[in-house]
Amino acid sequence: MTMNVSNEEMSDVVVIGAGIVGLACAWAALRDGARVTIVDRDFEGDRASHGNAGGIAVTESTPIAVHGMFTKAAKWLIDPLGPLALDWKHLPKALPWFMAFRRATEPARYQAISHALALLNNRVYDDILPMFDDIGATSMHYRQGALTVYETDEAFAADQAEWMLKRELGARWHAMNAQQVRECEPALAPLFRHGVFLDDWSHVGDPRRIVTLLRERVRALGARFVTGVARAIESPDAVLLDDATRVKGRRIVVAAGAWSSALAKSIGDRVLLESERGYNATLPKHGVRLNREVIFAERKFVATPLDVGVRIGGAAEFAGVDAPPNYRRSDALLALGKRFIPGIDDTEAMKWMGNRPATPDSLPVIGASPRVPSVVYAFGHGHLGLTQSATTAALVADVLASRTPRLPLAPYSIARFEN
Ligand SMILES: Cc1cc2nc3c(=O)[nH]c(=O)nc-3n(C[C@H](O)[C@H](O)[C@H](O)COP(=O)(O)OP(=O)(O)OC[C@H]3O[C@@H](n4cnc5c(N)ncnc54)[C@H](O)[C@@H]3O)c2cc1C
Repeated sequence: MTMNVSNEEMSDVVVIGAGIVGLACAWAALRDGARVTIVDRDFEGDRASHGNAGGIAVTESTPIAVHGMFTKAAKWLIDPLGPLALDWKHLPKALPWFMAFRRATEPARYQAISHALALLNNRVYDDILPMFDDIGATSMHYRQGALTVYETDEAFAADQAEWMLKRELGARWHAMNAQQVRECEPALAPLFRHGVFLDDWSHVGDPRRIVTLLRERVRALGARFVTGVARAIESPDAVLLDDATRVKGRRIVVAAGAWSSALAKSIGDRVLLESERGYNATLPKHGVRLNREVIFAERKFVATPLDVGVRIGGAAEFAGVDAPPNYRRSDALLALGKRFIPGIDDTEAMKWMGNRPATPDSLPVIGASPRVPSVVYAFGHGHLGLTQSATTAALVADVLASRTPRLPLAPYSIARFEN
């Protein structure tokens, strides 16, 4: 049940957005004793947090923008169902984002981003395990590592510098030969010449179930739920909804995923945020045994053995948040899955598209607004929103409670988009 809050009711914290990040922020604030209100346009509706690949991908401490990617990107763009797609009508709007994306590949910037990502990722389990425990999700969290597989020697060699950097940053991994890959994941086609086993990666059985459990827990801890579209932050302590009502809170947390930039703009904060639309197909009757998440390096897709089926997903489509989904991308991913996991059964396959809230430097936006310090940001997690949800929430809780944040927040500040 949801309720509308009158102008007079003042919470300690209003969280805008009930995806995994907003709910985690609400959970952490409630545990600090705050009175919390959550606003979402549709608490039960679909969102990125429901259909993702379920990976706790702590090894992903280098940005998406990799040196040399633009040559590959040009090739990918020619293939209409390749891993990267751009709606050219959307290009003028997205151009500043792409220019900043390119800047993120500069060596010094690339190193700085990687260090900042590693700082977050290296404490993910400190924060997410207690959250899973508290919401009753521990039994659906599988810690079997993950396996990246390579079809060619060239691609494996080309990624070595990145793997070495990831190791320097704290990731544990070891290389495997073709035979070891086959022994590790016998269901894969015998096409892979190399593998990289990622010890610390894990996955959840169903991301949607995690969101539901967290939402139920947050409700049980006393949060108020307000259904409505947040149009703007009207004043340091008030969110204006589409129906002209106001929700009041001493602090306001913006966790509206790919839709967060308009709310930041309403108080004058600039951010570069795009929806990097991803697709997948979930196969409930798959009939194969995968032991862990598998990442197909050259084709840029993953297969995760979820409780609800094997989910084959990936793709990065830039078309804005409002464009209708093109489920031919799910079909293309499915075709890849069938090729690399022979015999997989796609009966009753469910296709899905979700909006990854992507910044050009792959770093989330976490911390107080420099303009309106009562507003705290928690969005822009791109490929890692599930992974970094509880850590983001812990940092936001530090800010809300005026504690020294457990990590320095400067690399994640929205102020980096000022210039
Ligand atoms: C194909 C795919 C695979 C992925 N795989 C992984 C993975 O394996 N591991 C991982 O860590 N991450 C993964 N991700 C990324 C992850 O799903 C996202 O980063 C994460 O879900 C973002 O969470 P969020 O809470 O910020 O946004 P969302 O889940 O999108 O939630 C935003 C919420 O804000 C609400 N909202 C928005 N605007 C308003 C408004 N104005 N007023 C009221 N409510 C509003 C929406 O209704 C929604 O509930 C994947 C994403 C995709 C698409």
